Amino acid sequence: MAKSLSWDYLRERMVADQLTCRGISDPLVIAALRKVPREIFVPEEIRDRAYDDAALPIACGQTISQPLIVAMMSEALGLTGRERVLEIGTGSGYQTAILAEILGTQGALWSIERHADLLRTASGKLLHLGYTSARLRIGDGSLGLPDYAPYDAVLLAAAAPRCPPALWEQLRVGGRIVIPIGQQHQQLQLLEKQKSGSPLIRSNVSCRFVPLIGEGL
Ligand code: SAM
Repeated sequence: MAKSLSWDYLRERMVADQLTCRGISDPLVIAALRKVPREIFVPEEIRDRAYDDAALPIACGQTISQPLIVAMMSEALGLTGRERVLEIGTGSGYQTAILAEILGTQGALWSIERHADLLRTASGKLLHLGYTSARLRIGDGSLGLPDYAPYDAVLLAAAAPRCPPALWEQLRVGGRIVIPIGQQHQQLQLLEKQKSGSPLIRSNVSCRFVPLIGEGL
């Protein structure tokens, strides 16, 4: 009981000290970050750091994203809860849980991860927390998931030299994709697909992600 109260307190403090004071303002995003227990997605041996203002290591040499980045990426997509969303790079499943929380029962969410071990662990945690609607797939997310396209929004949680063409093709006109572009120096870009089919770059913020590894780059 004491432990769960203190996790709740740490989560509230994270929202106030790391998110809202840095400009995160979307009520759906704030509510999701206030609710989803990040401590569940962090490896047990570093669980006391779950609400650090940082990315943290998980299995397979990967990372769970920094809460601020999760909030920024979610907010950038401008979700109302009714969208079809594709996430590339499930990782720990934390960002997946945030998206599932935002989408509730009205939206649809697919998430692809290339490491089977990570996907298995994330899947167990998402089910345990009741996020049963997220459809998890093992595979190469750089090729997207054409069977369920078009998507209203795509979130890439790994850095690519450019937007993978398959993901762009699977985005509907007017849809948004948030993606870290670059290698050593990365920019978190929000691209919107215009009627002409060309991208409108809506924002550009420095970031640091593990690389996207795949055939579709
Ligand atoms: N947002 C996640 C979280 O909060 O736990 C963190 C994701 S981690 C920064 C990036 C993930 O992308 C890693 O788990 C990595 O294995 C995965 N990844 C890299 N290339 C991929 C690809 N082509 N297809 C699917 N997943 C990929």
